[in-house]
Amino acid sequence: MDFTIPGHVQDIVHRVRQFVDDVVIPVEQTLLKEGRDITKAEVLELRELAKAAGIFAPTMPKDLGGMGLNIMEWVPVLETAGRSLLGPLALHCSAPDEGNLHTLHLFANEDQHEQYLRPLAAGGIFSGFSMTEPPPGAGSDPTMIQTTAVRDGDEWVINGHKWFTSNGEVADFLIIFARTNMEVSPHKGCSIFLAPIDTPGIRMVRDMATMGVKDFGGHPEIRYENVRVPHSAMLGEEGQGFAITQARLGPARLTHCMRWTGIAQRALEIAAQYAATREAFGKKLVEHQSMGFMLADSEMELHAGRLMMQHAAWLLHNGEQARSEASMAKVFISESINRVLDRAVQMCGGTGISRDLPLSLWYEKARAFRIYDGASEVHRMVAARQVVKKYTQQAAKPAAAD
Ligand SMILES: Cc1cc2nc3c(=O)[nH]c(=O)nc-3n(C[C@H](O)[C@H](O)[C@H](O)COP(=O)(O)OP(=O)(O)OC[C@H]3O[C@@H](n4cnc5c(N)ncnc54)[C@H](O)[C@@H]3O)c2cc1C
Repeated sequence: MDFTIPGHVQDIVHRVRQFVDDVVIPVEQTLLKEGRDITKAEVLELRELAKAAGIFAPTMPKDLGGMGLNIMEWVPVLETAGRSLLGPLALHCSAPDEGNLHTLHLFANEDQHEQYLRPLAAGGIFSGFSMTEPPPGAGSDPTMIQTTAVRDGDEWVINGHKWFTSNGEVADFLIIFARTNMEVSPHKGCSIFLAPIDTPGIRMVRDMATMGVKDFGGHPEIRYENVRVPHSAMLGEEGQGFAITQARLGPARLTHCMRWTGIAQRALEIAAQYAATREAFGKKLVEHQSMGFMLADSEMELHAGRLMMQHAAWLLHNGEQARSEASMAKVFISESINRVLDRAVQMCGGTGISRDLPLSLWYEKARAFRIYDGASEVHRMVAARQVVKKYTQQAAKPAAAD
């Protein structure tokens, strides 16, 4: 296997790194001091600067104003953008817009392309993906979907209750997952609709307050009350809801891993620098073996995570679904980056807990990654199914003759 990063990608990584260091991190530091999240105007301003630097929309093709990179090339670029939580927002490769862009790029028809995909790719508008529902609705098990869309002539009428629709507070349109046919299994009876945020009947109930400072765009609870959309608002075909979501989630899980690896890498660097200068008990902290072990464990876990991402990205690039590989990468990386952040906080002592460093903020924000886009237990279930399938089939094969 060749692990060389192509020259043009190395050049992009270098430029992204410079942009994050020189432009994004100063904004991050200001917000950290002020204890607030970034405003929409500040995001749009950063995006203009990213455009001017030629590093905008790395996951989009060139005809949509993006950089035309393939998913294997996204790995180092998104990791570098992810060195600050604001980097992906600035470069326009943050969740949920990045996954929504990918979904629209795969499934939008010509009209939807012009109405939604093109302006979203340009970075001036925002979107949300509205799937998760409060109990007893769809959560870890999306087949428990309660939201319905009923055909009425040339329209669909959507009714339901969702929450955790990220970006919902700033979104210009929503991608809504609903049951359209009760006669067949949910896997075949769900569809996806696109609706401008001001469509009558879309009611924001409240923002779901979450750990750490508020995320840009929030994660609101939303009620859909007799929301009427034309048939042309359907994304893909009727009954394709699960297939579209699956096509979205494979790469979207990996891009979360890429971005969070960037934060964890920066946390490791901060911890190493602190421990290399701070002294206790007559020597530098790094000279205490247990501190060195923490650095080594974090380095090993980041390295293993990168290899898992590269492999899953390579499979996706070659047309495989990589369900098990994406699930394994999601579990390993979401859990290991939490450990890396935990160690970094520990190594920096009280300063790690304070807001003088960004570590405590990242520590709080990273916890959710073990839950969103599939909790670890659900991904382990997917991986376990593959293990059973693989090894029971193997056991059933007749032993090869000597
Ligand atoms: C910050 C954040 C952003 C989000 N953004 C979005 C978004 O933009 N759009 C959207 O639609 N949703 C979003 N979500 C929702 C997220 O995808 C769900 O929270 C997640 O899928 C889990 O569903 P749930 O919360 O209903 O947990 P539940 O389904 O109630 O599960 C609770 C826990 O049960 C355990 N569990 C579940 N299944 C199994 C199993 N098979 N075996 C063992 N244990 C199991 C897991 O530990 C799980 O955490 C977001 C969530 C957060 C926290």
